[in-house]
Amino acid sequence: PDSLSQRLKTVKPSPTIAITRLAAELRRNGKDIIALSQGEPDFDTPDHIKAAAKKAIDNGETKYTDVDGTPDLKRAIVQKFKNENDLDYELSNVSVGTGGKQVIFNAFSATLDTGDEVIIPAPYWVSYPDMVLLTGGVPVTVACGENTGFKLTASALEKAITERTKWLVLNSPSNPTGSGYSSSELKDIAAVLLRHPSILVLTDDMYEHIRYDGWEFATIAAVEPRMRERVLTCNGVSKAFAMTGWRIGYAGGPADLIKAMATIQSQSTTNSSSISQAAAVAALTGPMDFLTERNAVFQERRDLCLNAFNSTPGLSCRRPDGAFYLFSSCAGIIGRRQPNGETIENDVQFATYLLESTGVAVVPGSAFGLGDYFRISFASSTERLRAACSRIGEACGALE
Ligand code: PLP
Repeated sequence: PDSLSQRLKTVKPSPTIAITRLAAELRRNGKDIIALSQGEPDFDTPDHIKAAAKKAIDNGETKYTDVDGTPDLKRAIVQKFKNENDLDYELSNVSVGTGGKQVIFNAFSATLDTGDEVIIPAPYWVSYPDMVLLTGGVPVTVACGENTGFKLTASALEKAITERTKWLVLNSPSNPTGSGYSSSELKDIAAVLLRHPSILVLTDDMYEHIRYDGWEFATIAAVEPRMRERVLTCNGVSKAFAMTGWRIGYAGGPADLIKAMATIQSQSTTNSSSISQAAAVAALTGPMDFLTERNAVFQERRDLCLNAFNSTPGLSCRRPDGAFYLFSSCAGIIGRRQPNGETIENDVQFATYLLESTGVAVVPGSAFGLGDYFRISFASSTERLRAACSRIGEACGALE
């Protein structure tokens, strides 16, 4: 309707909406739907974290807290950055928000003026471009193909920089590709940025703890200490600790930026849930051994799906370093004919065909800014994944 703001109108409807709607409709009609479209671990929040939340309720920790995080949680985050990333932050360098999402939204809201550009390597997490548009900026997407492991190279970055560039967004390991940047790749990127001292970097390390095959996580502020004053290192408890519903994300960065983000948050949501913050302290300071077990399960599921896709004619998929997604090419499917005679012309039509013919919901690559691909999340039960892979194999085999 016309009552909506011009700013909202810049946000295009997501290509996933049609698929989500169709999946819901098919499910209502009694079809067995396997949704591999959601980015959420199927594991439960560990018990010691739940216990800390219950204790917080009983202790009366049920009031407003400091806007951008309790001192307890900020101390736990400072320790986390120190122990895991070799980053030295003080409490004034740390911000806590309602999910990683709010922290990123705060950062853009606090810094972008109309026309400011944000470089976003594609494929990207769907929210980055829309958040930039909603906060008045201009997303500048840079296509990063499979030939560079879906990663931004120093030369591609150099070409995308203009006088209006305000931020570069990095996400490693990545949603949707699972690709992770090595420390030498980050050094190359930092070398370009050191020649452009006004550009800020937002690194989204949400999937830091979910990684495979001994792949080593690195983050740009640690790799290049000369960048520290202009890097916002974003992270959260949602994925690693299976806490998507608790809504806690955080970031470390320069104190003036952190303070500006608190100003934005103080006029929108105030603090994140006091109870969730207490739970996040337990997550960050408690035992982490469950991660090894869970990552082993994720890795088995990854390999199951990877082998299935790579032995299906028409599909081919790179092995991800981390996160819980496969981003598979379906280029070999495009142009082939469905049993009903219709030709599959793009990844959206392929995702629609899979859903209609097999009940498996995947997200087309174009939603993430790279067509002829599709994403699955393998954070579902092994049994469901096995069923999904065999249905996908059959559906591809039925094409002419
Ligand atoms: N960053 C990435 C790359 C994600 O995939 C997600 C969730 O899907 C988030 C951030 C947001 O996490 P949260 O649920 O903590 O807001």
